[in-house]
Amino acid sequence: MDYMIGVDIGTTTTKSVLYDMKGKVVAYANSGYQLYQDAPDMAEEDPDDILHAVIEVMGQVMYKSKADEIKGVSFSSAMHSLILMDEADQPLTKAITWADNRAAKYSDELKDNGLGAKIYARTGTPIHPMAPLSKILWLRHEKPELFKKAKKFIDLKTYVFFKLFGVYRMDYSIASATGMFNIFDLKWDQGVLDLLQITEKQLPELVETTASISGIAPRFAELLNISTRTPFIFGASDGVLSNLGVDAIDPGVVAVTIGTSGAVRVTVDKPVVDPDGKLFCYALTKDKWVVGGPVNNGGIVFRWVKDQLFAPERITAEQMQVSTYDILTQIAEKIPAGSDGLLFHPYLGGERAPIWNAYARGSFFGLTRNHTRAHMVRAALEGIVYNLYVVMLTIEKVAGKPKSIQATGGFARSALWRQMLADIFEQPVTIPESFESSCLGAAVLGMYALGYIDNLAAVKDMIGVTDVHKPNSDNFEVYRELLPIWIRISHLLEPEYKEIADFQRKHTK
Ligand code: ADP
Repeated sequence: MDYMIGVDIGTTTTKSVLYDMKGKVVAYANSGYQLYQDAPDMAEEDPDDILHAVIEVMGQVMYKSKADEIKGVSFSSAMHSLILMDEADQPLTKAITWADNRAAKYSDELKDNGLGAKIYARTGTPIHPMAPLSKILWLRHEKPELFKKAKKFIDLKTYVFFKLFGVYRMDYSIASATGMFNIFDLKWDQGVLDLLQITEKQLPELVETTASISGIAPRFAELLNISTRTPFIFGASDGVLSNLGVDAIDPGVVAVTIGTSGAVRVTVDKPVVDPDGKLFCYALTKDKWVVGGPVNNGGIVFRWVKDQLFAPERITAEQMQVSTYDILTQIAEKIPAGSDGLLFHPYLGGERAPIWNAYARGSFFGLTRNHTRAHMVRAALEGIVYNLYVVMLTIEKVAGKPKSIQATGGFARSALWRQMLADIFEQPVTIPESFESSCLGAAVLGMYALGYIDNLAAVKDMIGVTDVHKPNSDNFEVYRELLPIWIRISHLLEPEYKEIADFQRKHTK
């Protein structure tokens, strides 16, 4: 039997799935690690923890499956991480993750002086503290001793491959999320290198996402019980591979995720950027690019509603061992679409796409004495989806009209919320039966790279469908009336966010 392993290096957990060549899951393993948050805005990981996790999960799926031979191992990884390596190839820093905001001052500066817009237009990475571009600027200014000692600036996956194979190589996909890679000529961007005062030699060699390497260090081959000839495919980032893993790679097929956070992503055949710098464009392969927007305020906002507005119900539900989310969606179901004119802007955690405003704050608008807590739940669920819809409107301008949605994430446990997505987007929504979609995406990319499948579209036959929702015209008529108001209110509130955020910072202990 032929097998393929997909490994997904996440922010808090690394997962591994061993598949047969039809995409059937044969074995699964995961291993978590610590996120270091010792200082404000800091979010780091120990790169050796990640290496150990990668070895552990691969070893486990090999052991659990009793597979005697695998055809390849292919990788997915979280984006935007940065590790500085010294002359002796030892890490000078931990891995600074996407969630680390210490470079905010430097991304703000890039935005304010207009340089950011020009860089974005070449790199497709929104100007934000998440990106290694901002992080390296921050390190150069605030940790010059580390910056000077850095022989290489790499990411987590490059670190893992370096430990296994002794080479510094980064795929186009991870590179396209650094803010330093020119997505149109597929090279490190010389203008950015000059700005950062680093040279191309200090960055990894660039390779295609389908590139592979063999000759793993014998001690790891032994640990994993694999041959040193096993090819390892460099793979791509978790976001674009998730599009592949849920079969959202055809034009107009939109991948919407509402987990703790959220995202809207569409695959196009060449790199595109949007004039306002609000969308990312990351590589899946040289001919497939994923355009989209990451959203901070997804299911985490529903969690806030549950914990803060429905604490007594939560306690009862826990005693009865039922999900409070299920109880709340039953409550919200009794309220008509549009929540009788109650609107909610879900910006409890600042926001990335669509407004890219770290100071943004949440609000209910349109409250009357007739509104109840039930209205507030429904308005919150609707507000999360309105916000994702606005991201879609931005994507439409550069990638064309959507034709269907493949949706994933914890929200999909609620039939009401799934229908809401279909009604607000006015698109059919399919929930693919996708388990660890980024791992599957990695495995499928690996099968393609090694010639086991001719086309990435083979993924269609590897995933099932759990639910399908068609837009309901009674509901979307209501949403069509409310959406323009919701969008106007968000523009009106925009200039006020910083003041209220400053007040909160000053007065909240
Ligand atoms: P993560 O993004 O961290 O992997 P999930 O995809 O599991 O997490 O999403 C978690 C979110 O899913 C929760 O914050 C909550 O908003 C939502 N959720 C979980 N269970 C339900 C449910 N039964 N009904 C509706 N939403 C749910």
